[in-house]
Amino acid sequence: MNEFIKWSELETNKATGKEKIKCPRCSDSRTDKRDKSLLVNHNEGYGKCFYCEALTFKQSEYTKNERKYTEVSQEWQNYTNLSDRLVKWSSEVRKIRQETLMHFGVTEEIKYQPAKQKDINNIVFNYFEGEKLVNKKYRSPSKDFTQTTGGKPILYNINAVIGEDEVYIVEGEFDVFAMYERGIKNVVSLPNGANDNDDYWINSKEYLKNVKKFIIGTDNDEKGIITREKIAQRLGRYRCEFITWKGKDANDDLISGDLQYSVDGSKPFPVGGTFNSEDLEDEVKAFYRKGLPSTIFPKHECFGDFKKIHSLMRGQVETVTGIPSHGKSNFSEWLVLNLINDWDLKASFFSPEHSPIALHETTFIEKAVGKPFWGNENRITENDIERYTQWAKEKIYFTSSEGKFPTWDWLIEKFKEQMYTYGIDIFIIDAFNKLAFNKGESGKEAIDKVLTKLTLFAQMNNVIIILVAHPTKMRKTDKGTYETPTLYDVSGSADFRNQTHGGLVVHRYFEENFTMITSLKVKFKFQGEIGGQVPYSYDVPSGRYYLAGTIPPVFDMTKADEPNVLEELVFDSTISAISANIDFENGDNEVPY
Ligand SMILES: [Zn+2]
Repeated sequence: MNEFIKWSELETNKATGKEKIKCPRCSDSRTDKRDKSLLVNHNEGYGKCFYCEALTFKQSEYTKNERKYTEVSQEWQNYTNLSDRLVKWSSEVRKIRQETLMHFGVTEEIKYQPAKQKDINNIVFNYFEGEKLVNKKYRSPSKDFTQTTGGKPILYNINAVIGEDEVYIVEGEFDVFAMYERGIKNVVSLPNGANDNDDYWINSKEYLKNVKKFIIGTDNDEKGIITREKIAQRLGRYRCEFITWKGKDANDDLISGDLQYSVDGSKPFPVGGTFNSEDLEDEVKAFYRKGLPSTIFPKHECFGDFKKIHSLMRGQVETVTGIPSHGKSNFSEWLVLNLINDWDLKASFFSPEHSPIALHETTFIEKAVGKPFWGNENRITENDIERYTQWAKEKIYFTSSEGKFPTWDWLIEKFKEQMYTYGIDIFIIDAFNKLAFNKGESGKEAIDKVLTKLTLFAQMNNVIIILVAHPTKMRKTDKGTYETPTLYDVSGSADFRNQTHGGLVVHRYFEENFTMITSLKVKFKFQGEIGGQVPYSYDVPSGRYYLAGTIPPVFDMTKADEPNVLEELVFDSTISAISANIDFENGDNEVPY
């Protein structure tokens, strides 16, 4: 447990900036009594002793909540009194010593386990934020989990990252303990196992904002690797490394003696920069073995051969153009909804043309559920709205310009913020001409500068940016209708053709009653076919496009992937992998505490 020092106890010499002072907790008991081991950060309002790990906070700087969480009862005075069976199991099976359990304030408690439908003895992971106990997680001997109702979701061991430049992120509490056993203290774990949710990142944001490097060591299984990618996406890949455990996780590697070796072998996530053949070897081998890199495309059959003419890739900027009222916003939104549904992605929409936002969202509900929001026939029910809300809440985000005239610099800052808070994969800007350039900048030069910034942002953060852009030049054909625009026709700059990686045009044939999608550009040959076309019909009630000549698709995205609450709460631990060696008192999978 960290000790806490009152701010008023500090003998500081300054009121701003940073300074190092003697630690009032440990300096008397140390050989070097003059060592200034306590770093005080006045501007951020915290202090930390890098010798004894004592913490100090100026007022409530670090514990202010925007949301109200239930206070967790702190009646566990006897917390050093762990049962023999738990201590024995922890030290013999998990190689976690009693003093480590005590350092982390681990307790035991009888508590109702929903999965068991009875009261049962649990190991309790106490979640501290500063001095305050904000959440408790209960683990039964047979790996069932439950938490304090209404407790604050936050990373486990968050106090340990205060003032640290580098932070390790592992999956479970026992992995935190395992790292601690090898002297790695700046480590946190995910409160729900391999589940990447917004809430605990938002609540941990304040503590992580100045961290320069994250080393992610989630479990070495499919779910852990997916979560690792999502965390890196959220925190910015350029400042993340990952650990590949030899066994399943940090605790496994502690037991086998490989932990330090695995930690030392952490690798950066590939982003832009300078590479030599050795850096690229793994990726080249992956191409050789598995073929070309996977591209992202809508999978539902109602898109017909879309995949053959056009697909997207992370790190790319895509332009969607088309004459006003030809449906370029509508098609882009239908496309993106399918991408997030088919590939488990998150999208952020900045669409100032479609305001108010709630009204705009009604069209998303139609598309996702597949029924009209308005009217009397087959109308969406309130139940549908509630199901959509749950489905979309960590998938779809809207940005409003907060009443100000939005500038590009403002939007790019917003994107950076959203990267951390939500881990966005696709940003949609509708439309390009709705944002102001910096003062004194205009015309082609300003556009090129913005496109360069967006391209860099997409590459650095491994995201897709979709620009909806109006054409200027609109030529008429002999028949008096408008010609299909190209990327050269997009307002202001040929750089839409040159700088962006991909392009689509949405062109509606009013008399013939269909919409032609044409692929204008793909960066790599394997991403599609420039000039390739697919015709679509438009289903007015649902707002969905579908392959011309077929019937409107009937499927409900919000029902496709109903989360199983039990599955989310129960996650694997290392026990099964090592249980064979242990003589359990309580049957096969049970742990004796
Ligand atoms: Zn100290």
